[in-house]
Amino acid sequence: MKYFLLEIFLILFLFQYCKEVNEKEKFSNKRIITDSQNTDHTILKEFADLGIIEHHFAEMHDWGKFHYSKSNHGVYKVTTISEIQKVIKIANKLEIPVRIRGRGHSMNGSSLPREEELVLNTENLRFLKNSGSAMIEVGSGVAVFDLNYHLKKYGYSLPVYNDGDLGPSIGGFISASGLAIPAAQYGGFWENVEEITIVDGKGNVHKINKGQEDFRWFFGAMGQLGFIYSARLNIVPVSGSEQKPVQSINEIPEYWKEDPEHRSHRIKIYEDLRMYWYTVMAPKGSKSRLLSQLMQIRQKYKDALSWNSEYIWPIKFKNFNPPLLYRWQKDFVAIGIWGYNTPSASFDARKMLGIQRAVSELVKSNSEYASYLQAELAIEDVNWREVWGDEIFKEFKSLKSKYDPVGILNQGLVF
Ligand SMILES: Cc1cc2nc3c(=O)[nH]c(=O)nc-3n(C[C@H](O)[C@H](O)[C@H](O)COP(=O)(O)OP(=O)(O)OC[C@H]3O[C@@H](n4cnc5c(N)ncnc54)[C@H](O)[C@@H]3O)c2cc1C
Repeated sequence: MKYFLLEIFLILFLFQYCKEVNEKEKFSNKRIITDSQNTDHTILKEFADLGIIEHHFAEMHDWGKFHYSKSNHGVYKVTTISEIQKVIKIANKLEIPVRIRGRGHSMNGSSLPREEELVLNTENLRFLKNSGSAMIEVGSGVAVFDLNYHLKKYGYSLPVYNDGDLGPSIGGFISASGLAIPAAQYGGFWENVEEITIVDGKGNVHKINKGQEDFRWFFGAMGQLGFIYSARLNIVPVSGSEQKPVQSINEIPEYWKEDPEHRSHRIKIYEDLRMYWYTVMAPKGSKSRLLSQLMQIRQKYKDALSWNSEYIWPIKFKNFNPPLLYRWQKDFVAIGIWGYNTPSASFDARKMLGIQRAVSELVKSNSEYASYLQAELAIEDVNWREVWGDEIFKEFKSLKSKYDPVGILNQGLVF
């Protein structure tokens, strides 16, 4: 019903619009919404009045509270793959840019809508299907934490999951890449995904498995190649627990909301803290050198944050490293310095960017170093061609033309 209304509305709207406005003028600036100041007359507002989307006027922020969205955007919480297809096809026709948002736990503003964009929110995609022995398929919106919590009831676990309890969704973790402590044994998160189902920027569905060349490019792609609808994942038995067949379920509960201890912990972190981390990846033989280089940066900025102990995660190479994350095909180590700042303490954004810049300089001047720009602070002035090198940049660009030729998805991140 929702769709029927949406389509009728759009057809009528388009018809009226085409009659009134010169075709060329209309699409010249890639925006069908021409009066961005007057929110009474936007398509988003009309969608909202029909109950199709939520029309937001409040700014959103992501984990770092460093980047804020524009205040005028629509939010659509998708529930099925055909819904995603339809919305993307319509957005394409009308040239409404689409922003994909998981749990908003990145720090670089990548999931924050720009003016009058349509946000496709994944939070209702939390299904789980038993997909054969030691394999499940899950919706991309489920939090990695909640999925793991759920699997433990059956005596299973994800081989690789994020650090820090509640954090990314499955779609967001893939879109960053997925570094973690258990990667020392199992390889990065990417090594433990069998297949993803995506909707591309034209609204077409693709199943892409780990045997296909394009697969590795979705890790670290920040949603530039398509909307990840679901992922087939390996699971491993938890030793000492009894294993039971994992039951399919339409919606994995948000366990963190039900667990009072977790809930208050989350609210405290969200409201009170600004917590930042800076990760650098390097060949495993460079571990000591990298550690001391990062310690020098931490020392230089010792007053900028209350620093925690650094983390050092060896990442085992099994089949591939995602080219957009760490293009050298071998074991590596990820080392991070991190700390927090409360609103009451003096927060100086320039210092945070200063640290980010120092880390970027470190990476630039050491061969086979890379930083985790997909998940961390600065993004606006990133020169991606320089970060990835010509070859990777060109390949990614050609995949962008293949999967999202109009550039409707997540505009302005890389393309
Ligand atoms: C507490 C905490 C702990 C963390 N721990 C780790 C860790 O241990 N290891 C690690 O590697 N990272 C970690 N991170 C970083 C985190 O994994 C990334 O920032 C991740 O992208 C956030 O996922 P999200 O669902 O919040 O995505 P969002 O912040 O909503 O989005 C991030 C990017 O992914 C895209 N995206 C999200 N969902 C989809 C989808 N379904 N399809 C296509 N594109 C999509 C968005 O468009 C955006 O470009 C942590 C972050 C926090 C806040």
